[in-house]
Amino acid sequence: MKKPDEIMADYLLKGGKMLSKACNACGSPLFEYKGETLCVVCAEQGGEITEAPAARAPNEAPPAPELPTPAGSGVSALAEELDRTLVYLCERIRSEARAEDCLMLMECVAQGIEVRRHL
Ligand SMILES: [Zn+2]
Repeated sequence: MKKPDEIMADYLLKGGKMLSKACNACGSPLFEYKGETLCVVCAEQGGEITEAPAARAPNEAPPAPELPTPAGSGVSALAEELDRTLVYLCERIRSEARAEDCLMLMECVAQGIEVRRHL
């Protein structure tokens, strides 16, 4: 959570005006921002200001989970393609007559599974 003086500094930078009145709840100075008088500290810490994410400081850790999985990304398409390829390779192994060709195909499958696991 941001410190009150950081929040106030943010609003000053964004063009907010610090007023001489103080917030009843937290005692911080009230701000005039976009024609509204508000306590930026309460607003920020209560999460009521919808534009807060846009004003996020670059050095602040984002709340996103560690593994971002963008919807419809190329990764799932790649995984599907790999699955199809692995099935195809397995079918070829079944019909392969030569032992060394079987072995080579199985190595390909093993590689594919390894790659699949890291997707
Ligand atoms: Zn307040």
